[in-house]
Amino acid sequence: MGEKNYRVLLYYYYTPLEDPETFAADHLDYCKDLGLKGRILVATEGINGTVSGTVEQTEQYMKDMKNDPRFSDIVFKIDEAEGHAFKKMHVRHRPELVTLRLEDDIDPNEITGEYLSPKEFRDALLREDTVVLDARNDYEYDLGHFRGAIRPDIKAFRELPEWVEENKEKLEGKKILTYCTGGIRCEKFSGWLKKEGFEDVAQLHGGIVTYGKDEEVKGDLWDGKCYVFDERISVPINQIEHNVVGRDYFDGTPCERYINCAEPDCNKQIICSEENEHKYLGGCTHECRVSPRNRYVIEHNLSQEEIDERLKRIEEEDMQKA
Ligand SMILES: [Zn+2]
Repeated sequence: MGEKNYRVLLYYYYTPLEDPETFAADHLDYCKDLGLKGRILVATEGINGTVSGTVEQTEQYMKDMKNDPRFSDIVFKIDEAEGHAFKKMHVRHRPELVTLRLEDDIDPNEITGEYLSPKEFRDALLREDTVVLDARNDYEYDLGHFRGAIRPDIKAFRELPEWVEENKEKLEGKKILTYCTGGIRCEKFSGWLKKEGFEDVAQLHGGIVTYGKDEEVKGDLWDGKCYVFDERISVPINQIEHNVVGRDYFDGTPCERYINCAEPDCNKQIICSEENEHKYLGGCTHECRVSPRNRYVIEHNLSQEEIDERLKRIEEEDMQKA
């Protein structure tokens, strides 16, 4: 191998930052000078980022960060890549690193769930008294998840506490395992669960991406792929076997290809084959298909006749199904 000259770094660190706004502006200049691309959030509680760059650029970045006493213990998850995974470099100041909007915010340095290594997490997955709760959004779960994990039907992380309140009976009296992509969401979420009175709460340390790289567990008991928030869209996790769990939004056939609905205001993430993207004009509903702002129609320069023809075909097929 050795053909991959780029890397994607995923990292977070909860640490007090005094003036995050100034930090964000300085860090943006620094990242741009280095030649990195990506998305970084900074808050008074720390930093959360994904960046891509060449091996040299990312090495330099990791070295500089670890030399900063505020980030000396930061852990980077490193993926090899063939090119950049982002188009631009953003560093943004936010009130929270992950948006839970709790009345009393959680500081993971004070309260958080027990950290489990990939091996410990895998062993816990097999125990009968455990319940596994996916701390990610529904569209992330749908592309891949731990076998047997509960799928909270939430569109955004901040909805998770409410979901727990409404589904308490699923969790009470059990050992609760939580997991997310890189671990940052579970740091807070597992802390919140403990604060809510759930006693036995554990989290997958380093998240799914760390689990997928672990030499011993090799991604065992993970089905499908792991959704990531960059241009790669997903990464493989299970090195032993690959089961496709994603299902095409339109016809339910196994599929792992994500698109955004072509209507810009909708922009819904759907799993969809190339064939069905063409067939359905990239739109998740009839309204999205006929919208004058439909990106698919504009990009493919479709005539009204062509649009009408495809809409008619969809209608005919829908009638056959009914
Ligand atoms: Zn739509």
